[in-house]
Order: sequence, then structure tokens, then C-alpha cells
Amino acid sequence: SNLNRVNAVNAVADRLPCGVMPAQAASISYYAEDVFNAESMREYLPKATAEKLIATISGGAALDPSIAGDVAHAMKEWALARGATHYTHWFQPLTGGTAEKHDAFLDVSDKGEAIMAFSGKNLIMGEPDASSFPSGGLRCTFEARGYTAWDPTSPAFIKRHGNGATLCIPTVFCSYTGEVLDKKTPLLRSVQALNRSVRRLMSCFKQPEARTVATLGPEQEYFLIDKKFYLQRPDLVQTGRTLFGAPPPKHQQLEDHYFGSIKPRILAFMTDVEKELWTLGIPAKTRHNEVAPAQFEIAPIFEDLNLAIDHNMLVMEVLRQVADRHGLVCLMHEKPFAGVNGSGKHNNWSVSYGNHNLLDPGKNPHENAIFLTVLSAIIRAVDLHCDLLRSTTAGAGNDHRLGANEAPPAIISIFLGEQLADVINQIKNGAITGSKRPDAMRIGVDSLPTLPRDATDRNRTSPFAFTGNKFEFRAPGSSQSCAEVNTVLNTIVAESLDYLSERLEKLSTADFNTGLQALLKAVIKEHQRIIFNGDNYSADWVKEAEKRGLPNLRDTMEAIKPLLKPENQDIFVRYGVFSKIELASRYEVYMEEYHRRIRIEGGIAAEIARSLIFPVVTEEYRRVLTALNAAKVAGISHGVEGLRISAELLGKGLDELQRRCDELDEALKGMHEGIIVAMESIREIVDTLEHAVDDARWPLPKYREMLFIY
Ligand code: ADP
Ligand code: MG
Repeated sequence: SNLNRVNAVNAVADRLPCGVMPAQAASISYYAEDVFNAESMREYLPKATAEKLIATISGGAALDPSIAGDVAHAMKEWALARGATHYTHWFQPLTGGTAEKHDAFLDVSDKGEAIMAFSGKNLIMGEPDASSFPSGGLRCTFEARGYTAWDPTSPAFIKRHGNGATLCIPTVFCSYTGEVLDKKTPLLRSVQALNRSVRRLMSCFKQPEARTVATLGPEQEYFLIDKKFYLQRPDLVQTGRTLFGAPPPKHQQLEDHYFGSIKPRILAFMTDVEKELWTLGIPAKTRHNEVAPAQFEIAPIFEDLNLAIDHNMLVMEVLRQVADRHGLVCLMHEKPFAGVNGSGKHNNWSVSYGNHNLLDPGKNPHENAIFLTVLSAIIRAVDLHCDLLRSTTAGAGNDHRLGANEAPPAIISIFLGEQLADVINQIKNGAITGSKRPDAMRIGVDSLPTLPRDATDRNRTSPFAFTGNKFEFRAPGSSQSCAEVNTVLNTIVAESLDYLSERLEKLSTADFNTGLQALLKAVIKEHQRIIFNGDNYSADWVKEAEKRGLPNLRDTMEAIKPLLKPENQDIFVRYGVFSKIELASRYEVYMEEYHRRIRIEGGIAAEIARSLIFPVVTEEYRRVLTALNAAKVAGISHGVEGLRISAELLGKGLDELQRRCDELDEALKGMHEGIIVAMESIREIVDTLEHAVDDARWPLPKYREMLFIY
């Protein structure tokens, strides 16, 4: 019988209980201890240099090369004091993950003495071989060099492992010819574009100069399963999702997991995760059980956008590593288990100017006018470029989630909530000049009705929801980097803000309020089709959206096509975020990645079906036939009918399995569409056979084990 599965279950049962921590004072004194932040800069650098560097970081100015040597020295001393022997430039290539190539600080002098060295040049620039990173044809193989350059707006930090530590320096990554090969560079460019446009709009409203900060709070969903189960699932190991597995009778329908009391083993894991994140200066705040069994969420306090994205990349890494230490595996795939909820990453985005969040409705007519202007700009931006937003969420994993009746649909629309939708309606219908009607709202004159925070109802089905003082984009997948999502969001909003500013700049002070009112009325009228406050899961909405002309880009191949549309390329070129070539290269990279992933899934599905499932079903068939023959030889009639039915079922199953394996093999010679269909077909028969074969012999850990025994 299949001892591995039994042993895995027993190992979970035999785990030592965690115990209960005695009451003792809690301390957060170690927060950001492994971050080279302002405090460590002041401690390790001459005063003037430290202040220069801090100004660079907070002001987004370029690093003064004359201080690079001093900064490198200080960083090294600080890192050595914390046990780091190595350093690496840490960057975000188009794989969607992070990359690092370590160098020791070690150097050997002429006399053969070991020293620890780190120069300004080492800090500012690296030259990793770029030939094995995806580039979408941007980089010729004969010019394999890539460059990494320090992004001082994201502080260096230390990554620890069992017996050592490494200094990590967040960097951008580009090719020898200067084309972008990473996700951070376009993001930083888009942040700059947004800053410029926000400042321009604020000067229309006669606001004093202030700092613009785009902010992000990414909520991260994930699954945890016991590592012993994981290692027996070649599909999970190779693709991050289960390609087979019959849904158990009980999964999430009792709704007893969401926000349920968290099991001690999971809490122990979460506590270790948080300690590591806090040491890295990552403000992990919220933890809870999610909807599906074995599904959880972690959310930080929102931060500056660029930093928040670096931090989210680290959160994913820490989740994986700490899980491993706890004998668990953290699955970040968008749909690791069929039939239960998948995992997303809710992208909570806002922009603040000075101390004021521009998406906060505000306390007086002037603030409200700014709020409504920014809101209208976002409505316009999302309507004009919903296909681009959708493209940033494309991927083989997320295809199983978007539109699959659980996550938001593949159709992008905006949810405003009842009260705000009403305000928008009033603007749309309101009289423009000198209205005497008491109910007509005039921007900049009347106050918005105050919108109490808890009154913004929570439409969980909307892909892009206004949630009180921020927009929550719910389509991004759990494994995806938030970089591209926000690159697009920043750029399209910047363009819309400029559209409004250009028109507001032409107004005289006396005409400003009426002009603004007319402008917002026109914008809302033109772009109201993107607003939808109803149930996004309903079939009616799919039809209605089609009538409104909103795109429904169902899968990756459709969703990435907008990257090639000239009008989309145009906006990125105008805002200096992507060149046309860079954008086209991204299309190539994502298309190739998608095709490769599907092919890998097909390959491992075929292998599992033939080498794991087929032999077990054959053995079951043989046993039933043996029993049937034995009964006949003994002249016993009871049970014979049951055995005969069983044998027929298994025999037919074997025929089908064989046939569908052949179909999958054939499909693997062709395109992705065929592979997907063949994989679904083979899964159907394997999942049926799962119930026909002796439980003790089934080779793959079952859903009821992976999702419930931990
Ligand atoms: P939910 O109920 O959807 O979980 P929360 O209020 O807990 O919503 O917030 C979810 C995330 O949104 C958190 O990471 C939070 O820090 C972030 N958030 C709150 N305000 C802002 C903001 N102004 N900009 C960006 N993110 C924000
Ligand atoms: Mg949320």
C-alpha cells in the first residue's frame, strides 16, 4: 500500500505540540534592525554625508557620486557588524521574481592577507551576465552584459540564513544599450510621471508646493500545506498547482475557515514570519484565515509605492522560507486547488500630496473639489485604459482565477459605493451655472455629503473598488509582482490628470468653479460606462458589459495583446515609461512564459498519468480480476456481480486513461489551446479513478489530506 501518504499523515499527527508562551513583555525594539536606514546612516557616516544621502532618498534626487565611496564603506561596516560576509545587487527581472548574484567582501592583498572591501563602484553599479534573463529579443546574445544600478530610494537590507548573512542592495536592471530588463525601472519612471501631473493639478487648485507620494498596501493571500504531502505531488513541485485531485465532500461550503481561529501551528509560522519582516522594517499588520481551507492572508501597513513593492517581494520570499523551516510549504500560485478559492493580491493604491490623501473626500468644499477632480481623472483613466490594467494581471495561473466565479471577473469596472455613485450622478445631471435648485450640487461651493468610512459598502465582486480613501484593485494574482500593475495605474492616471489640468489652466479665477463643474460633468458623462456597482459575478453583467463596449479579455493571450496597440504604446512613450521596443519585448516575454508554463503543465500531467496513475489502476484491476476468478473457481456466486461491475469500470477507466494520455502526447506537439483541453480531459478520468481505486494504494496525497491535515 502507499506508505508515503500514511506516513505523511502520521507525521503530522506526531508533531510535538507548540505549547503556550508564558506571559512576558512584548518588544518591537528590533524593528528595521537589518535595514540600512536613516538611523544607521547617521551612525555610520560623517554627518554631512549622511544628510546628503537622506536627502537623496526622501527627495528622489540622484545620488552624488562623490559620496558613493563613503556610503559604500559605511554600508560595509554596518553589514559586517551584522554578520554579513557577502553583498549582492538585488533586482527584479521579467521572470516576476527577484534575482541576486553574491560577491564576498573578501579581497586578498599582495601579501596574501584577507581583507573585507566594498567600493563606491561596487555599490553603484553591477555587471551581471544578462543572457539568461528574459528580454523579449531586446538583448542580442553577443552583448550579454546587463547593468544593475542602485536605487537609493529603497534602503539596503540584510538577508539572513542558517549560518550567514548577505547585504542586499535594491537595484534597477538594464541592458548594455540602456533598454530596461526589469520591473523596477518603469515603475520609478511612472512614479515620476505621476508626481509631475499631481503637482500640475495642485497648482491649478493653488495648493502650495508639497511632496507627492503614491502609496500601496498589498494584501497577500497564500496556501500552506505540510511539506510531506507536497513532496509526493510532482505537479505541485513542478508547476505550483495540483493538476489532479477530486474535490472532497467538505471543502469551503460551510464557510467555517474564513476569519476562524488560527491553528497553533499556523500561528507559530505567522509569528516567525512577522518577526523576520519586522526585522526587515516591513510593517506586517494583519493576519487571518482566508476563504479556502488552508488559505491565509498577510497585509502590511501601506507605504511608499516603490518600497511597498520591494517589501512585497520580500514578504513572498520570507513566507516561503519560514514555511520550509516549519515543515510547511507556502503556495503562492493563483489556483493551487481546483474547486476552492484561489489566491489574489489586492492592490490598495492611493496618492497623497503633503499630508493630504487625495482620495480622502475631505472636510471642506475646496478639498472635496480636489477629491472629485482626482476621482474623475481615475474614472477616465480606467475607462480609457482598462485593457492595459487587465494586461498587468495576465498569466497562466491567474487565468484560472479571473472570471471563474470567485475572484473578480476579467472585465474591468469601477465600484464607487452607493453614496459616491450618487454624488457622481448629481454632477453628471447637475446644472452647470447658477443653479437655483436646492438639490443641485456645485463643485467647490457645496460640500460633499460627508461619507462616513463604514458607509462605503464592501462590494467584494468588483475588480476595482473605491474603499473609503483608496482604490483596491483585486485582479492581480497572488504570485505576481505589483510593479507592472502600478506602473500602468500611475501612468494612465498621470495622463488623465494632465488632461484635466490642461483645461483648468485655461480658466480665469472667476470662472474656475463653473468651469470645473462643466469639465467634471463632461468627463463623467463620457466615461460613466466603466462604473458598475452591481454583482460582477452575474451572467447579466457579462452581457451588460458587452453592450457598454467594455472589453472581456478572458485569458492571457487576449489580455496581453493591448500591449501592442499603438494608442497604448503612445501613452507610455509620451510619459517616458516604456519605449515602443520595451513594450513589445514585454509582450514577447509574457507570451513565451505563458506557452512554456502550459507546456510544462502538460508534460508533468502526462508523466503523472502514465507513470503514477496507470500502474496503480492496473494493479487494482488485476486484484479485482483475481478475486473474480477465485470466486468463480470456488463456485461462489455472492460478490461476483459486484466484482464484475468493478472490473468493467476499472477496465474502461484504463482504456480511457490510455486514450487520453495519447491525446495529451499528441497535443504536446502543438499549441497551448490543445494542451489545455487535453489536460482537462485527462484530469476528468484520473479524478474519477481516484474514487475507484483502493484508498490505501492511491499514490497522490488527496485534497482532503493536503487541505485539512496540518
Ligand atoms: P480590508 O478590509 O480590505 O482588508 P484595510 O483597511 O485593512 O482593508 O486595508 C487593506 C490595505 O490597504 C492595508 O494594507 C492598508 O494599509 C492599505 N491602505 C489603507 N489606506 C491606504 C492608502 N491611503 N493607500 C494605500 N493603501 C492603503
Ligand atoms: Mg481589502
